[in-house]
Amino acid sequence: MPKVWAREQTEEQTTQRASDQEKRKQDRGKGCGLKRWMQAVAVLYILLFFPVPGSQYEERTAPEAGEESMQAEAEEVSGREEGESADDTGCGETEKGSGGNEPKPMIAITFDDGPDASSTPRLLDGLKERGVRATFFVIGENIEKEDNRGIIKRMQEEGHEIGNHTYHHVDLSKLNSEDAHRELMMTDGLIREITGEETSLVRPPFGAFPDGMAEELDKLYVKWTVDPLDWTTENVDEIVQKVVTDVQENDIILLHDCYESSVDAAFRIIDILKDEGYEFVTADRLLIE
Ligand SMILES: [Zn+2]
Repeated sequence: MPKVWAREQTEEQTTQRASDQEKRKQDRGKGCGLKRWMQAVAVLYILLFFPVPGSQYEERTAPEAGEESMQAEAEEVSGREEGESADDTGCGETEKGSGGNEPKPMIAITFDDGPDASSTPRLLDGLKERGVRATFFVIGENIEKEDNRGIIKRMQEEGHEIGNHTYHHVDLSKLNSEDAHRELMMTDGLIREITGEETSLVRPPFGAFPDGMAEELDKLYVKWTVDPLDWTTENVDEIVQKVVTDVQENDIILLHDCYESSVDAAFRIIDILKDEGYEFVTADRLLIE
């Protein structure tokens, strides 16, 4: 083989080798590209089905946030339902007389003819123990007996209402207008002197006013709706039974705090009616509301 040909052949072979190498390189490049593409698909596949921790966190966080908000909504709904059922319970409790948000049926207990040095302080003790506010229609001359002024002051301090029941416990309808007015003014003056306040309530003895006098007065005339005639008997059971069987919402009970039996009856009446769900309020609050 001539050298030249041989060199040419060699060059040709070299060129061929170079060409083959280039082709292989290109193929490798193609192969590389294919492999990379396949790798990318594989990574995508892995990412899709086996997310990396970072993306897993993100992917879990979003649904969790959604879940949380849904849970929050569910809890809110559940809370409302619980609230509603609590209200229902409250109503049920109210019906049973043991609490709840529903207003309780109101009732007023009133005491006439005091104050009495013995029975009235005992009554005030029992009312305080029971958290009950009452209304007292007091007689002027009884306020001035045996230093009973302190009892009037105590009534005021303990949240009871004080009303005028004349000075001498007289039938005002049998007096002339001037004397009738004087009966009220004298007791008004005593109450004002002790409490520093003008009384706005009046109840004349026997429920008797001279014609037109009730309208002339700038006072609330408090009548009564339940009268067990406690002054006619010392039988406590009888007084209690008369009241608790007759009583209804918004009734005004009439008792007399100058009798020990009436005080005992009052405590039992209050205990029974509170258990039945009644709320004791002062007479003016009952009449105004
Ligand atoms: Zn009276």
